Amino acid sequence: MNASDRRSLLASARRVVVKVGSAVLTMEDGLDLNMIRHLVREISALRQRDMQVLLVTSGAVAAGRRRIQFMQPDAAHLSDLPGRQAASAIGQGTLMHEYDRALSELGIVAAQVLLTREGLRQRERFLNARNTLERLLDWGAVPIINENDTVSVKELQFGDNDTLASLTVGLVGADLFINLTSADGVFDKNPDQNPDARHLDVIEDISALDIPAMCDGKTAVGSGGMYSKLLAARRAAQLGAPTLILSGRKGFSLCAALDGAPGGTLVLPCDRCVSSKKFWLAYHDKPAGTIVVDDGAARALCELGRSLLPAGIVAVEGEFPQGALAGIRTQAGRVLGVGLCNYASDELRRIMGRKSTEIQAELGACPYEEAVHRDNMLLDPAI
Ligand code: GLU
Repeated sequence: MNASDRRSLLASARRVVVKVGSAVLTMEDGLDLNMIRHLVREISALRQRDMQVLLVTSGAVAAGRRRIQFMQPDAAHLSDLPGRQAASAIGQGTLMHEYDRALSELGIVAAQVLLTREGLRQRERFLNARNTLERLLDWGAVPIINENDTVSVKELQFGDNDTLASLTVGLVGADLFINLTSADGVFDKNPDQNPDARHLDVIEDISALDIPAMCDGKTAVGSGGMYSKLLAARRAAQLGAPTLILSGRKGFSLCAALDGAPGGTLVLPCDRCVSSKKFWLAYHDKPAGTIVVDDGAARALCELGRSLLPAGIVAVEGEFPQGALAGIRTQAGRVLGVGLCNYASDELRRIMGRKSTEIQAELGACPYEEAVHRDNMLLDPAI
């Protein structure tokens, strides 16, 4: 992609999700207030270009820990789950106060939005959150979004704010995602360990990247890091939104980056996008089990765009009810997709390997011919 195409792609964005992590926002002794002031000036500059901006911010846990650590010298108490949640309760207020103060100085209204995965996995509540965010944007406020850490249960956390931000892109239909990090963008190998690592200006086809290999196999989500940033970018790309992974070090300029200044990595959107509804069903829940399919079914799904029939299933892992989200993988372990199952796991085990015409005889009824309908399936998921 040449520089002018890059500029016009970025300049055409009207609704931007900016994500900033704790590493950018915090210093030894707490929140970096100069950084917050700088960030809100950058947000204001984007708004002057007629862009609506939503900010996904971390920093609550880090800010809370710094405030409490003098009174709570037992470090283990600060890092277990209740400790993180309690620290977040302390730090979220501080964080919001600082954003509110810095934005008000520029005449901008800040709005705190705390989301949970549990909340957004119900379609009605998801649509409710979307309506609220739309109203805030109509009013010209800047939504400042974080996970509601205090009530998030471990199994159903977003995991990290990269994930939360990419789901926010889907929630509000943003057309640009800017992920501010402590690194200078994406490298083909880990630059800390490989002096010959090459910086990538543009990633044209993120679905073709071997993301775990680029991250030296460091694939733990929940800890931030390049792996979760690339997964988040891949999700945004599936929605048709480009991602700019940019250094959030002192003096960074969002406008300069949008005008084509070198630095950072631009991840281009996929050619074939998924609908917002499909995106929601694939990513707002965690798969409750796995369906293992044979090679014929894998081809039918990936090359012919078909639904998954019971005949192609060779195993079903986990226990789940009808309508649950399940992963779909090959016998060799390649994850092909995720989808909503028309049958519960025990029913699937009874009809797997059978023709659709045999479902009625086995189950006494055949409400669906497909185990997972194409419309309820997302291939190549970034999970
Ligand atoms: N919600 C956490 C916080 O505000 C951050 C999680 C993350 O950085 O990914 O501290």
